[in-house]
Amino acid sequence: MNNIMVKENFILICPKCCSTDVKTDFSNAGMVATGMFKNEYICNYCGYSGEFFPEIKESELEEYKKENCDK
Ligand SMILES: [Zn+2]
Repeated sequence: MNNIMVKENFILICPKCCSTDVKTDFSNAGMVATGMFKNEYICNYCGYSGEFFPEIKESELEEYKKENCDK
């Protein structure tokens, strides 16, 4: 039994304010049909939106916040 595929939750975090209250914007979901799908994420806290939000393992979230968001 050396299968170490631990199922871990990944959480999106806002690169601006480090809030994890992030939602996926599906407003351009029509693009998916054309094969050019581009997800956008929106932070509910500061309103920042973008294509790239860091995805952090749930177990590493606190560490990430400490290193990147503790100001
Ligand atoms: Zn934010």
